[in-house]
Amino acid sequence: MMFRNISKVIRPHTAKFGTAALPAPNTNPEILYTGLFINNEWVKSSDGRTFQTENPATGKVIAEVQQAGKADVDKAVQAAKDAFKLGSPWRTMDASDRGLLLNRLADLIERDRTYIASLETLDNGKPYTAAYYGDLGGSIKNLRYYAGWADKNHGQVVPADGKYLAYTRHEPVGVCGQIIPWNFPLLMAAWKLGPALATGNVVVMKPAEQTPLSALYIAQLVKEAGFPAGVVNMLPGYGDAGAALVQHRDVDKIAFTGSTEVGKLIQRSAADTLKRITLELGGKSPNIILADVDLEKAVESAHMALFYNMGQCCTAGSRTFVEDKIYDKFVELSAERARQRVVGDPFRPDVESGPQIDREQLNKILELISSGKRQGARLVAGGGRAGDAGHFLQPTVFADVGDHMDIARTEIFGPVQQIIKFSSLEEVVARANNTDYGLAAAIFSKDIDKVNYLVQALRAGTVWVNDYNVFANQAPFGGFKQSGVGRENGEYGLRNYTEVKSVVVKLTDKNS
Ligand code: NAP
Ligand code: MG
Repeated sequence: MMFRNISKVIRPHTAKFGTAALPAPNTNPEILYTGLFINNEWVKSSDGRTFQTENPATGKVIAEVQQAGKADVDKAVQAAKDAFKLGSPWRTMDASDRGLLLNRLADLIERDRTYIASLETLDNGKPYTAAYYGDLGGSIKNLRYYAGWADKNHGQVVPADGKYLAYTRHEPVGVCGQIIPWNFPLLMAAWKLGPALATGNVVVMKPAEQTPLSALYIAQLVKEAGFPAGVVNMLPGYGDAGAALVQHRDVDKIAFTGSTEVGKLIQRSAADTLKRITLELGGKSPNIILADVDLEKAVESAHMALFYNMGQCCTAGSRTFVEDKIYDKFVELSAERARQRVVGDPFRPDVESGPQIDREQLNKILELISSGKRQGARLVAGGGRAGDAGHFLQPTVFADVGDHMDIARTEIFGPVQQIIKFSSLEEVVARANNTDYGLAAAIFSKDIDKVNYLVQALRAGTVWVNDYNVFANQAPFGGFKQSGVGRENGEYGLRNYTEVKSVVVKLTDKNS
């Protein structure tokens, strides 16, 4: 299935990663694990419920998966609690050995990289090239990064007044409930497992209902790597299982990535037990293009900033602010680029975009596209479905977008780019910041003074300069305002997985 001719593509999707060593995908990967993973064992759900996961490229069911309910959450939390008891294999393990286990897990994922990338493409619909290089590559590196931290998370010796030895211990928080979205199923799981396990926590994870398969496979690799039973538990299921984790009094921390709406529910519900929370939520990120840029390169970067992963990125550069002097040409080139984007079977290496995740998301995006037309934005590319099987959409571009329009305010989470005109830096700062979100922003310019001004003025957890969607495992990631609480990645990411304990020891004089 192909909808576009690749011959005129300005820069193939694969240019960022290179295709030299890309092994052929397994387009029909065997589904090995569909159960609940509790205490290093595969079990069925307590009430016998199952759910189906589908291939969004065809709409066909891939597998029937066990569906965790509250009773299963209770079991998994108990298993995690037992694994966390003082004196348990996990609590007595050398920190350096925890690092070794994480490195082994990364090695096993690397061993099975083609299979897992294929599974991700089948279950999620993302292009195999992106799954292999982006999701798998990023996950492996993240686990290795945090493996290195396992024995380097020092406390301090504190100069307390009086005759005391005072020091701090960075202790694990305990049982961590981790709730994962469907847009980067494996990568988001890795981002959460790495820091939690490096610091000695135990985990009960719930993957998204649309994409449980890669996380389930990873659970088996956790066992193969040699993690003690109960340290990682995996519960496929729906939001009710996530909510049960949040409410559970023996869960000490929740790490969540997903919608701002559910993030707010979680924060409210977590108040009852005052458990620690980190939330990575939505965005409506501004991407600011000044007139001094290399136009073609900026068009391509802004295109990728929005259309990568079919627009299903929390950081998607969905408000493309373009300086008036280059606006018309920028719109023309952006529309042309979007029309040339290759949409189709995500297993094909030349395909840039696969399907949206499901029918519900597809309909939500189509409704937002209609609202854009109704509210007076100028549709310059796409606007409808592509093909009639699966959940494919045409890459869509709107010009002349006003700040009040729904498409300029709502997180669309789909392949719909808004191009907005501005004239001065002060104006663009005010408009870019006029949102409840604050996840990411980007600036494209060669003028260092303008760049430095914008870097300071933009209210966002990450500001990229002359690039977009660059995620370094070493650099913290998270949101200002309603885009989240806390940070993942880097050294900052460890802080949310440890409690600081002060120990104050009275020193006695030799003769007293
Ligand atoms: P979502 O509802 O926030 O789902 C994220 C995760 O939370 C899933 O595992 C979900 O389970 C679980 N969940 C749902 N309700 C819960 C509750 N009350 N308590 C605890 N966990 C709960 O997101 P979605 O419905 O899949 O997508 C809707 C919108 O969210 C998208 O259109 C997009 O705007 C945004 N989104 C943002 C990100 C991001 O990276 N920031 C990622 C995904 C989606 P289920 O599997 O049953 O849903
Ligand atoms: Mg699926």
